[in-house]
Amino acid sequence: MNYTEEQLDQLRSEVEKRETPARFRHTLGVEREAAALGELLEPDSVSELRAAAILHDLTKSFTDAEQIKLMRAMGLPHMKAEEEAPQILHGHTAAALIPREFPAFATPRIIHAVQVHTTGSENMSIFDKIIFLADYIEIGRHYPDCRAMREAFWNVPQDILCSSEHLDGVVRRVLENTIRFLKERQLPIDEETVRAYRDICRKSGIYPTETTP
Ligand code: GDP
Ligand code: FE
Ligand code: FE
Repeated sequence: MNYTEEQLDQLRSEVEKRETPARFRHTLGVEREAAALGELLEPDSVSELRAAAILHDLTKSFTDAEQIKLMRAMGLPHMKAEEEAPQILHGHTAAALIPREFPAFATPRIIHAVQVHTTGSENMSIFDKIIFLADYIEIGRHYPDCRAMREAFWNVPQDILCSSEHLDGVVRRVLENTIRFLKERQLPIDEETVRAYRDICRKSGIYPTETTP
């Protein structure tokens, strides 16, 4: 699917109404990063990637109770980490709202990428990986881990930048960072995060160094 600049601009103003100014700045940062990654890795899908990025944190401002209520109302499957870590639900609730509220943007690729943007998933497509990575390395993120992954992705020769192996390597390291971060804080690690990590290690022929339960 291709979107015009006018359609994207309309989407940005709708989403801006629902996000805090700081969150919206992050959203635009993810859009820019996703477009840059898309130019390299999925050039025919840049406008669709932009739309997914604009929509990815649509329900981020909902409270934990609202996230859980919306999950139930939509009949979305109960997740184990749900009660302990409702912040991981916002991708699922955002994905569920897209067909209702933004039907023109309800493509399978946008919905799936938004749904898995926090945890990753098994069998991520390049489209999914671009949104997942863009969310972590967008220019507004200043944490040392995020800066390091931004460098790790961009600071390589041009021919390597376009390779899906390079993308996989950085996505794997982002998942590793997330698992380590959660373990250090003794926070529950979602099953989907573990599955995403194991899957990408297996496909890259790399032994998973972050041990997971
Ligand atoms: P944001 O919405 O742009 O702030 O970013 P994300 O959607 O990627 O992540 C939201 C939060 O969820 C981050 O603080 C992550 O560390 C956290 N997170 C990611 N995976 C997991 C998980 O498996 N379990 C828990 N508890 N938190 C996670
Ligand atoms: Fe998010
Ligand atoms: Fe985000």
